[in-house]
Amino acid sequence: MEIISNPAQIRRQTQDWRSQGTKIALVPTMGYFHEGHLSLMRYGREIATKLVVSLFVNPAQFGPNEDLARYPRDLDRDAAMAQEVGVDVLYTPPAEAMYPPGYQTYVTVEELSRGLCGASRPGHFRGVATVVLKLLHQVQPHTAIFGEKDYQQLQVIRRLAADLDVPVEIVGRPIVREADGLAMSSRNTYLSPEERASALCLFRAIKAARELVLSGAKSRASILEAVRGIITATPHTNIDYLALVHPETLQELETIQNEARLVLAVWVGKTRLIDNTLLSESRLCCV
Ligand code: AMP
Repeated sequence: MEIISNPAQIRRQTQDWRSQGTKIALVPTMGYFHEGHLSLMRYGREIATKLVVSLFVNPAQFGPNEDLARYPRDLDRDAAMAQEVGVDVLYTPPAEAMYPPGYQTYVTVEELSRGLCGASRPGHFRGVATVVLKLLHQVQPHTAIFGEKDYQQLQVIRRLAADLDVPVEIVGRPIVREADGLAMSSRNTYLSPEERASALCLFRAIKAARELVLSGAKSRASILEAVRGIITATPHTNIDYLALVHPETLQELETIQNEARLVLAVWVGKTRLIDNTLLSESRLCCV
C-alpha cells in the first residue's frame, strides 16, 4: 500500500490507472478506522481493481464549537488496518493542500442540507459537499462508497453528484453495529462506560420502531412517541432531533407510505450520536 498526500500525485496515479481501463473505487473517511469503515473498504476491494481510501479530517465541516481539535487521529494504526484490507492507496492530503491561502469556493446542496443534522450543525453539509467534490475531482473514481450511518450525508452526496454532473457512481452501504447494537463511530471513543451503556437507547428505540411498524403502526406521532419515551427514560441523554422522513427527499412524513426512514440524533453526555433505520411496511429490515 502506498500513502500519498499530494493532490497532484494522486491525480497522476489515478489518471494512469484510468488510461489503462482500470476500475477505481474511493472510500472517503476522516480516519480512526473501525469495522464500519473497513466494511466500505472490503466492498470497494470487491467491486474495483484499485481501491483508494482518503483520510482527511475536514475542518470545513466542523462548527467553531465542535470537536475538530480533539477528533481521534492515529495514522499508523489506520495505515496498518487499511493495508490489511488490501487498500492500494491511502490518500492523506494536508489541510493546506485542500484549502490553500485564498481558498473561497464552497458548494451547497440547498434543500437536503437544511433540516436534521444541517439544522443543528450550520455549515456542516456545505463543508461535506465541498470536500467530497474536491476528492472526487482529485481521485476521479468510477465508484465512491459511503455508509448509511450518515444517512443525510449520503443523500446530499447523491444529489451533489447528480446535480453537478460528476461522472461517478455513488454507493451507500449498510450500518455496521457493535454486538449490542450501537452503531460504530469514531466518536464512540468519547463515551464514558456509563454513557456507553446509555448510548444503547438509540438502537433500542430503533428496534421498538421497527416492531411497531411490523405490528401495523403507520403514524409519525405513534412511532416518534415510542422512540422519544425510550430515549428520555435513559440517563445522560438529550434529544437533538427525531424524525420520520421520506428516504430520498428527507421531507417529514405524517404516515408511512410503504417506506420511511427514522433518523435520530441524541446527545449522550457531551457526545452527539446519530443513527437511522429503514421502516418498511412490507419487509423486515435489517440495519
Ligand atoms: P467518517 O470517517 O466518520 O467520516 O466516515 C467515513 C465513512 O464511513 C462515511 O461514509 C460513513 O458513513 C461511514 N461509516 C461510519 N460509520 C459507519 C458504520 N457504523 N457503518 C457503516 N458505515 C459507516
